[in-house]
Amino acid sequence: MRVYNFSAGPAVLPEEVLKEAADEMLDYNGTGMSVMEMSHRSKAYDEIIKTAEKDLREIMNIPDNYKVLFLQGGASQQFAAVPMNLMKNKKAAYIVTGQWAKKAYQEAKIYGEAVEVASSADKTFSYIPDCSDLDIPDDADYVYICENNTIYGTKFKELPNTKGKTLVADVSSCFLSEPVDVTKYGVIYGGVQKNVGPAGVVIAIIREDLITDDVLPGTPTMLKWKTQADNDSLYNTPPCYGIYICGKVFKWIKKMGGLEAMKAHNEKKAKILYDFLDESKMFKGTVRPEDRSLMNVPFVTGNEELDAKFVKEAKAAGFENLKGHRTVGGMRASIYNAMPIEGVEKLVAFMKKFEEENG
Ligand SMILES: *Cc1c(COP(=O)(O)O)cnc(C)c1O
Repeated sequence: MRVYNFSAGPAVLPEEVLKEAADEMLDYNGTGMSVMEMSHRSKAYDEIIKTAEKDLREIMNIPDNYKVLFLQGGASQQFAAVPMNLMKNKKAAYIVTGQWAKKAYQEAKIYGEAVEVASSADKTFSYIPDCSDLDIPDDADYVYICENNTIYGTKFKELPNTKGKTLVADVSSCFLSEPVDVTKYGVIYGGVQKNVGPAGVVIAIIREDLITDDVLPGTPTMLKWKTQADNDSLYNTPPCYGIYICGKVFKWIKKMGGLEAMKAHNEKKAKILYDFLDESKMFKGTVRPEDRSLMNVPFVTGNEELDAKFVKEAKAAGFENLKGHRTVGGMRASIYNAMPIEGVEKLVAFMKKFEEENG
């Protein structure tokens, strides 16, 4: 029996994608082998990676002057790759809205002057600061955001005013959850294990003029975006199987109606949970309402023992991974694209029952 998996990542994937992959496990498309066993230089694999890129371009409406790279090292490795590739003036502006943004900011400090231009640390990252008129240094090479804060459950509903600087966004936990205007960004990147595929793949969408040989001295060949771009993500062996699964998820999204349909589906799901949190006397959302994420929903009872009891009973009832991040406590329901609406409806019914029994 499959559970309802509310994990923040690695996370739930569409069941039909998993079934298809299972069907193709021993013999992919008449090749007589699994995709795991296949040369990344083979004709069959070439078609897998090219089709994945084509479908992603179509779903996100990615303009021709952007490259799509399939990389490794997790989103965390891009925390270093971003300054290595972009810090020509050795200066960048960081908006610190949670732990992942903070880690990126700290990593950037190794390579140059990273300036914190806004932060929501004063209220445990429970909101997105006003970024309409920030003091961005004139010589900053870029402005950096973590667009959806996986741990704290906040999301930028409006992109910051970068004052003309290149915007770099970590979208790990909101990738493909709604339509985006790619032209507003210089770099969009994310680990796929939250909303797109299995751990091991990072997708980076980078405007071509930002992909150059002019990188910081000492930048490893593998971390230079140009190496990857010039070789169509096949400079070395890519995470072949992970990219194949991502490709299947792109097909699934297309079949479901694309990113507009994903957004409608995600808004509907999130509303069920947030509406309940707003009316419940026991459970409370922790995020300022206007900044709430559609993907990650943290909540608390205000009583640690009760939180622990809830998590335990929820698990026994088939709702997995609801324990909040260790730095926030309480609970967190991650309700990515592949979480069916019934999963959220049943969770809310379970929460209501728990409230009646324990209120
Ligand atoms: C999970 C996550 C990361 C870290 O991803 P890794 O692939 O484990 O390095 C970075 N940023 C955000 C927003 C995340 O949710």
